[in-house]
Amino acid sequence: MGITAGIRTRWGKRVKGGVHPPESKHLTADKPIVRMEAPELVTIPLRQHVGAPCSPRVKRGDRVLVGTLIGDSEAFVSAPVHSSVSGTVRGIAPHPHPAGGESPAVTIENDGLYERDPSLRPLEWRDMEPDEIRRAVRAAGMVGLGGAAFPTHVKLAPPKEFPIDTVILNGAECEPFLTADYRLMLEHPEDVVEGLRIIMSAVGAHRAIIAVEDNKPLAVKKLAEVVRDPSIELRTLKTRYPQGAEKVLITNLLGREVPSGGLPMHVGVVVNNVGTARAIAQYFRTGLPLVERVVTVTGSVIREPSNLLVPLGSSFAAAVEACGGFSASPAKVIMGGPMMGLAQYTLEVPVVKGTSGILALSDREAAYEVPREPVCIRCGRCVEACPMNLIPTYLAAFSHREKWDQVRRLNINDCIECGCCTYTCPTRNPIVQLIKVGKAELARLKTLQEQRAREREEAMEQGGRDGDL
Ligand code: SF4
Ligand code: SF4
Repeated sequence: MGITAGIRTRWGKRVKGGVHPPESKHLTADKPIVRMEAPELVTIPLRQHVGAPCSPRVKRGDRVLVGTLIGDSEAFVSAPVHSSVSGTVRGIAPHPHPAGGESPAVTIENDGLYERDPSLRPLEWRDMEPDEIRRAVRAAGMVGLGGAAFPTHVKLAPPKEFPIDTVILNGAECEPFLTADYRLMLEHPEDVVEGLRIIMSAVGAHRAIIAVEDNKPLAVKKLAEVVRDPSIELRTLKTRYPQGAEKVLITNLLGREVPSGGLPMHVGVVVNNVGTARAIAQYFRTGLPLVERVVTVTGSVIREPSNLLVPLGSSFAAAVEACGGFSASPAKVIMGGPMMGLAQYTLEVPVVKGTSGILALSDREAAYEVPREPVCIRCGRCVEACPMNLIPTYLAAFSHREKWDQVRRLNINDCIECGCCTYTCPTRNPIVQLIKVGKAELARLKTLQEQRAREREEAMEQGGRDGDL
């Protein structure tokens, strides 16, 4: 591990913060993507994205095909979900979700035929207006496949007052252990670049940058062979976590600072993941919506760590089984990487659109004793490591003491939850965990305030009507 208060990217821009945890990508970096057979039952959550959950569009007993729409919503910030197998709907009920809690989910009995919905057709994006491309991307159920699962059509529809001049394609994959994006760049570089062109066309950008960390020279070479368009630049980034975070990428590549509480579009940028670009290209070429994704199944207790192409809704247990099972009982199973991933309490959770990895850790790897009371020796390491220029130690302390005004004033919502602060803390303070609690509490208080304001307005309206009588 090393901590540097300002690293230099290969083209000389200063970057603050970050850490360099062991990469641990050797377990799967050389493993080509292998298609996994869907299990007998797939359970597809109706909430697989940021935004409004979907309502079911099928009922028990319905026959569905690969690509059949099974859930949708009227909300703009949402994304439809489709069946990943052909078979019969066995039920719609709450099911454990890998992002936490439960979500209504459609359980489908797989008939093993993988019969595809015949209404699905390829689309020629070159003949389409930007609005048509966005509608198609929405219809495909596309979300950010880097793990954030933000609906892609929303990103591709910035308001007119925020014109986009640059698209950044994120191939950094800075989380340790994960190699799904790396394999996609190696095995499908044409699709990655084609997807990027579609995104550029949708947002009207004339420039794009594909950003890859310098620990992936083979991927850079493969992409360089297919990037022939002078409006697309290929850049290597110094390997450093969290180099792939949206705001960090924008600062490093363009020298633009996304303002506090702002979005990339506020500085003329859209950032997408290489996996998303590849999925978009595949959709326009085949007409098949997002029903599968590449997942790195890895860790020292997985018998055969692999990069699997997994039908959505397959359980974590089935994915682990497809990799030979566990060699020893895992102490912890995480969705995603070790820095930002989410620990799971059951392997019955399904693979969803945001599942970039399944990481199983041994007792030794998972050993992390959290102090009963956070103790800060004021070493300043967390401040040095924070890529967002926050003061993590104060955020954690104020959150722990439930000082919500203070955490708001210290811009807690600018925290990208990268975990660099927790990683560097010598007293093992659960800093990012306390920050997450603080963010959730602020969100809860905001909702409560809005609800009370609505109730007041309604009461006043009612009072006015009664006074008219
Ligand atoms: S405060 Fe947030 S953004 Fe800063 S290092 Fe900690 S987790 Fe990352
Ligand atoms: S790294 Fe830990 S001990 Fe050091 S200042 Fe931050 S919270 Fe305190």
